[in-house]
This record gives sequence, C-alpha cells and structure tokens, in this order.
Amino acid sequence: MIGVEVAEGENTVNTAPTTVEVFASCLRHAMDGRGLKQADLIRMAADRGSKLGKSQVSQYVSGKTLPRRAVVQLLADILEIEPFELTGESWAAEYESTPASAPAARAKSAGPAALAPATADGAPALAPATPDGAAAPATSAFIPSSPAMSDPPGRAEARPAAAFPEPRTFADRSTSSSHSEGNIMSENTRTFKKSSKLDNVLYDVRGPVVDEAARLESEGAHILKLNIGNPAPFGFRTPFEVIQDMREQLPECEGYSDSRGLFSARKAIMQYAQLKGLSNVSMDGIYTGNGVSELINLCMQALLDTGDEILIPSPDYPLWTACATLAGGTPVHYRCDEQADWNPDLADMEAKITPRTKAIVIINPNNPTGAVYAKEVLEGIVEIARKHQLMIFADEIYDRLCMDDAEHVSIASLAPDLFCVTFSGLSKSHMIAGYRIGWMIVSGNKRLGEDFMLGVNMLSNMRLCSNVPAQSIVQTALGGHQSVKSYVAPGGRVCEQRNYVYEALNAIDGITAVKPKAAFYIFPKMDVKKFNIRDDEQFALDLLHQKGILITRGGGFNWPEPDHFRIVYLPPMDVLHEAMEDLAEFFETYRQR
Ligand code: PLP
Repeated sequence: MIGVEVAEGENTVNTAPTTVEVFASCLRHAMDGRGLKQADLIRMAADRGSKLGKSQVSQYVSGKTLPRRAVVQLLADILEIEPFELTGESWAAEYESTPASAPAARAKSAGPAALAPATADGAPALAPATPDGAAAPATSAFIPSSPAMSDPPGRAEARPAAAFPEPRTFADRSTSSSHSEGNIMSENTRTFKKSSKLDNVLYDVRGPVVDEAARLESEGAHILKLNIGNPAPFGFRTPFEVIQDMREQLPECEGYSDSRGLFSARKAIMQYAQLKGLSNVSMDGIYTGNGVSELINLCMQALLDTGDEILIPSPDYPLWTACATLAGGTPVHYRCDEQADWNPDLADMEAKITPRTKAIVIINPNNPTGAVYAKEVLEGIVEIARKHQLMIFADEIYDRLCMDDAEHVSIASLAPDLFCVTFSGLSKSHMIAGYRIGWMIVSGNKRLGEDFMLGVNMLSNMRLCSNVPAQSIVQTALGGHQSVKSYVAPGGRVCEQRNYVYEALNAIDGITAVKPKAAFYIFPKMDVKKFNIRDDEQFALDLLHQKGILITRGGGFNWPEPDHFRIVYLPPMDVLHEAMEDLAEFFETYRQR
C-alpha cells in the first residue's frame, strides 16, 4: 500500500534493501497488480490443496520472513508469474542452490533492487527491517493442506487478529526485558528517572498506542497509520523549485545565521504578514524556528511562571498544553463547541479567566477538528482579550489549507492594540515537515510585551539559530505559485479525501463527524452508550489489535470525554477505502469490555 510502507521520519530505513525486503516489495507489487489481498493468497493456496497460515503470509508481505523455495513457487503460481519475479534473477540462482531453511543468513546480500517496485519518487519501496536490519529466520512455512481446513477467510481477515500478535499490556513490557549481561541490576545500582517536570506532560500523538503499534509491526503485523499529519510519506511531494533552491544555496548555509533567522526569510515572512493584515510588524519581531514546535516551547518558557494560567482550546494540538505544563504554567482548557462547527465557546473561555491568566491560545485552522473560525468568533475572542488584558497566541500553521469557501482571517489583524504572536511554517503547506522550518511574528502593541521579548531574545540566542538550509527556501516557498492550492481545491487530493472520509464516517451507525474546512484531520464522535466506551485509549488499542488501524484517541488532544478520535486523511484513496471499510466493520460489533 502506498504511503503506509514508508514509516514516519524516525522509523525510516535508510539502508539498501535487503533480500527479504525486496521479496516483500515484489510480492506486494504483484498482489497489488492483481488486486489480491493476503486472505486471497491463503484461499487460493487452499484451492490448490496447500495451506498457508495467516501470520505466515503477513510475515512475507511485511518483509519479516523469507518463504521456502516451495512456497515461493506456490506464490508465483498463484500470482501467475515466474518465481524470479519475486526473488530476482541473480538471487534466484543462489536461492535455488542453498537449503530452503537458510535464506535469512543471506538477508543482507545485495537484492535485485531493479526489480523492486518503485515508490512515487522512484526509490525502491522498502518495508521496515527488523531492529538490527536482518531478516527474521524463515519458518517451516509450507504446510500441506489438512482435510479439516476451514472456509476461505473473508476480506476483513486480510489483516486479521491472528496476524497481530497477542496484545501485551504496558506493564508486561516494562517487566519483560531479558536478563542479558547488560541489564542485570543489583539493589544498589543507580538508575536514572525522567525529571518530575515531565510528570504531567502528555503527548499522545506519539504515545503508548503508537508504541504498541510499533511492537506489532516489529512482530510482522501491517498497520494502517492514520495518526500523524506528515504529508510526505503519503505521496505529497515538496514543490521541485523549493528543493532546487535549497540545493543551490546549500554551500552558503554552513554557518549559523542571525538567531532570529536569515534576512531573506524574515523579509518574505514580513511581506506575508502584511498581506494577512497584521499591524506593526517589523523585521526584529520575526523569528524563525525548527518548526513551529520549537517556537511554541520557546514562548511558553519565556512567558510562564509557576502557576501562571494560559487558556488553551480543548481539543487542542497537544504540544501547546505540553509546553505550557513543562514551563511550569497551568493550562486551562476552554471548550470548542462541536454543535457550532467546533468554534470556541466564548462564554466558557471567559468564565475560565482568573487573575493569573496571561494569554489565550487559538489554533485556527484547527488541529484536530479542521475548523476555520468565523470572523465574528475571532472578534469575540479579541474582545475578551482586550477586556482582560491578555496576550494572544495564534497558531495558524494550516492557514493555506482552507477548503470550500472558508476564508482564513488572522486574529492579529483584528487586534492592532493587543500584543499578538502569530505562528506559521512550511511543514504542512509545502509538505516539508522534515525540513523543520516555522516562524512567529510579533504584532500589535509591542510595548505591552517588551519584557517578554527580552526573554524570547535570550532563549532565541541560546539556541543559536534555526536550521539555515531550511530558512534559505522560505522566500521561494512563500512567493509565486502556491501548489498547495490545487490539493485543497475541489477535485484536489486533500479535498476529495476529506469528502470521502467525511461521508464514510457519517455512514457508520453510531459515528458522527463535523465536516472539516481545512487541514487534513477529522475528529469524529462515537456514541459511547452504543459501543459501551469508557476508555478511549482502550478503544484505540482494540481498533489497533482487531483491525491494525492506528488512530489518535480524543484524550490525546486534551478532550475530556472518551467519545472522540482523530483520523488523518492524508493516505491515498485506496488506503482510505480500506480503512473506512475496516472501521465500519469494527463498529458493527464493537462493545468495549
Ligand atoms: N501547530 C499545529 C496546530 C500542528 O498541527 C503542528 C503539527 O502537526 C505544529 C504546530 C507543529 O508544526 P512544525 O512542523 O512547524 O513544528
């Protein structure tokens, strides 16, 4: 499947494809070419009087195990191809001349990369290697069919429960380490604990359910990842001009830049701010960062003393809550109202203000709801900030990903008399999340935040500067033709995928979802009574174990009830189709125990 094969940044395998990976890649390619799922292979083998196990096939497909010779022949017969089309010619000869149980030992030998199906960018499609890069040993894979064989498995069993190793509890994992020489501990051994500052920090977008998914993958399961808003692995490519310009400028990017960033980058950001109507913006009020993430953290550290309160939306992009907590502040969540297209509930916001409240955070367009706030709502927030003398932080990283007739208004453009900090970057609009480039713009009445800015400058200087090669392409990226527009226009990939997922989710009995107007997330609601859901983490784990689908639970976005989850609808349509069918099937019978 396109996209899901390529893991997130930290999991990406950079080594040359191993034999087992090439085999898996060729097998998937041949299966895709014939529209066959794993369950079909099992059924077709049975038709030929041979038995293939579900987990066995799953292991071949995910590149964890090489089949024996006889099984390669069987698979080739089913797929109506020659065995060498699965193994490669040079390797096939070698394979033929060695005992069938030995291929794992050769896993690192050069595979026929030329035969591997290419990904969109022409690179061989790699399945993840085992942690040490070696293939898992071949199992005694080819079992003659038994007369008592069951009925052919259905489509849902293409990624069946049996393909997923038994769930292990988190407690199991912490106690199950082997007693190798390196980890024997005596009573007096000093161990190192994480700082207590992290005790209340939550970042579930890459949390325990993701760890469990990684464990399942390492044991051969195939996981559909609908959990992270990372466009590149789903085939969204960086505009070529951006890459070209970075390449050109690379030799000039060897040194640190000014701690705020390169002049050219900040000038382009300033011009962008002017177009968005921000007032009183100057070059020294623009800071580039290693993504917006770094700057959120920097601002929270610069602003908050222990016990200072900051208003943050619920649901939120959880980094805001995490960074405020880490800085010693107290995040106070105001509710966004699903009944009002997920716009912030202004009455709730105002009711939560205390003498210790320093700032309001808004995320517009919103992650995880996809809401784009109406101008009147923004004016209402400005009014509250004005009345209670609060700073405004506006995270607008999705402002160029609006759909339909949604028009994005920067809240800072409505608040020239207040102290505002507006955040954006290129991770989403230019599909270069991995380059790490974001920025923040200070605007409005800067006198109100003079001392805060001293703190910001100090922290900015302490981190020296942000990634300079990424800064070098800001000017190119922000100017001229914006290719992202074609993705979000009617008929564009993001827009069509949004439409499909929205319709498909609402067609499931017990699920409702507000149509997102921007970004690439949807935040559906589950009927907790119908499904007996009391714990959304358990729900996420159940979905993972039963269907191999990874989503993020609503609680991961500081949503207080266990009744929501977030889907990232970036994967291509065929993957989304499969995911939605599996979800529908899951909810048909799901009752949380
Ligand atoms: N803000 C929001 C609302 C996000 O959704 C994300 C990433 O998903 C970020 C900030 C972080 O972006 P960056 O890649 O610029 O660090």
